Amino acid sequence: MEKIRRTALVAGVANGRSLAWFSAISLLKKGYDVIITYQNDRFEPTVKKMVESYQKEQIKSGNGIRKCGGFLKYLPCDVSCDNSIRTLMTEDVPKVLHESSKTERIDAIVHSIAHAPPESMKQSSSSTTNTNEPSLQLVGTSRSAFQTTHDVSSYSLIALTQHALPYLTTVTTTTDTDTSSVTALTYLGSTRAAPHYNVMGPAKASLEAVVRGLASELGPAHGVRVNAVSAGPVNTLAARGVQDFTNLKQRTAENAPLRRNANPEEVADVVAYLSHGEEGAGAITGQVVYVDGGFSSVVAV
Ligand code: NAD
Repeated sequence: MEKIRRTALVAGVANGRSLAWFSAISLLKKGYDVIITYQNDRFEPTVKKMVESYQKEQIKSGNGIRKCGGFLKYLPCDVSCDNSIRTLMTEDVPKVLHESSKTERIDAIVHSIAHAPPESMKQSSSSTTNTNEPSLQLVGTSRSAFQTTHDVSSYSLIALTQHALPYLTTVTTTTDTDTSSVTALTYLGSTRAAPHYNVMGPAKASLEAVVRGLASELGPAHGVRVNAVSAGPVNTLAARGVQDFTNLKQRTAENAPLRRNANPEEVADVVAYLSHGEEGAGAITGQVVYVDGGFSSVVAV
């Protein structure tokens, strides 16, 4: 029987620590063809090198991933620019699909993108110097920083999904494995005021609301599932923008029921599980799934 080819579009690879990169690897292991996207020229050389060395490794080791027949390609996409998203979805992705997999569908989209202007993630000048008092960082957010953060970190999920919709599988009979999916990465700062998370907290709350709204619209109309994975702290480029991140990570591990943080592979495996819709995940939509050692379930004192 001919193997069903599945294609995933994973947006937001900056380097080898990116949750998008780990997600791409997990999807490749499940036999997906994977297209990753990077923001701009700054990231292109790193991403190119990663993809090339991954491909060389597969050829050398033949460790099963390559035998799945999956390919790994990389394309640019700046989600703050409609033209860039349009070019990705109407020119670049169709070309790759046509040349490489001879399909015209995308089975899974992973959104692993966030950005806040650096000044909005720093201690504001009006903040107190007394360490016993909460710092005033969200209150110092400018209108434009608020808009940029929400645009890149939340609206982009709508924009990407909107442009990708023609390629997401439309199903007539829904079984647990034939639905396509959209999965976004989020953080607990959406529902709790997390130290130094500032304007990213409201942006993640917005992102999660977008997940629920899209799930409710796209389930009946297109059979598309939409979910979010809420990851505990992981050392990445984006995490470096959060002040005192090392302390946040350590305190999270100390207070989590499992007394450790989730590692990026675990986060990525849940992304791939939700994307694929296997083993019951085909009935999951509109949800935020926490992969954080249980931290989100307890009151830390
Ligand atoms: P990362 O820096 O590797 O990934 C963030 C990506 O967003 C980068 O590739 C960056 O280029 C991209 N990006 C920013 N602005 C963009 C734009 N205009 N157009 C296209 N891409 C843009 O860091 P990460 O931690 O892997 O972040 C991925 C996702 O995971 C984010 O949504 C982040 O909020 C979420 N997350 C991270 C953690 C953590 O602790 N690292 C925890 C929970 C959730």
